[in-house]
Amino acid sequence: MRLANKVAVVTGGSRGIGYAIARKFASEGASVVVAGRNYESVRAAAGELEKLGAASMAVQCDVALRDEAEQLVSLTIERFGRIDILVNNAGITRDRLILRMSESDWDSVMAVNLKGVFNCTKAVAKAMLRQRYGRIINITSVVGLLGNIGQANYAASKAGVIGFTKAVARELASRGVTVNSIAPGFIETKMTEDLPESAKEAFMSRIPLGRAGTPEDVANAALFLASDEAAYITGQVICVDGGMAM
Ligand code: NAP
Repeated sequence: MRLANKVAVVTGGSRGIGYAIARKFASEGASVVVAGRNYESVRAAAGELEKLGAASMAVQCDVALRDEAEQLVSLTIERFGRIDILVNNAGITRDRLILRMSESDWDSVMAVNLKGVFNCTKAVAKAMLRQRYGRIINITSVVGLLGNIGQANYAASKAGVIGFTKAVARELASRGVTVNSIAPGFIETKMTEDLPESAKEAFMSRIPLGRAGTPEDVANAALFLASDEAAYITGQVICVDGGMAM
């Protein structure tokens, strides 16, 4: 039980990578708050965590909205009394070549992937500083390091998350709060399921380990960063990508 007595919030915890992280944390003894826009989905995910014997709570929350991010944190503290771990995982894509990318494609990706990370981090920072303990884990992407055709908005948002991680890591370090990023490569989830076969093949051809990643692969890295074993690591980006971005 590497996360016994810890309280974690996972945004976008209803499916894919976020759900795998929520399950992993729950199975390691954490109480887990699952947040997402669709209440039915977060409720179902929290129900599954309860079946593992974990305390869990579902919160409907659009991370792009500051009030909802603040409410997510206040509901968590009201119910569990503290907040030890925040996983900023919620993310979306609106892929298009730059010539066809609309202002709303740009704005909506920035609002969720970058401003959402700001909103939730700002909302937890005070409580974590007061506790003199915290773990913030931001899910970025190898696309934020390498770029990718058709993903100028997404790549910019994920590169922004890496800069944000490093700045906030420096700000919060003296009070025992670590801030790190995980950069997944090509992971089998709903986000990648709908990609054209040609795009999937292009990704696969760039993976030295020769297979797509699983949400569990990413959850294992998140567990490490959330655990006491990672106490001396902050401001880092860990790629979980089968070697794609080496
Ligand atoms: P996914 O299957 O599409 O799941 C996304 C999750 O985020 C869902 O739970 C979704 O629930 C939630 N979400 C979306 N917009 C939200 C918002 N505004 N507020 C709160 N929750 C929101 O995606 P995934 O593949 O698991 O991706 C998870 C993270 O990993 C994302 O940040 C993604 O960019 C990153 N990533 C994924 C891959 C990959 O290959 N799959 C690679 C690199 C990085 P609702 O729609 O109900 O809100």
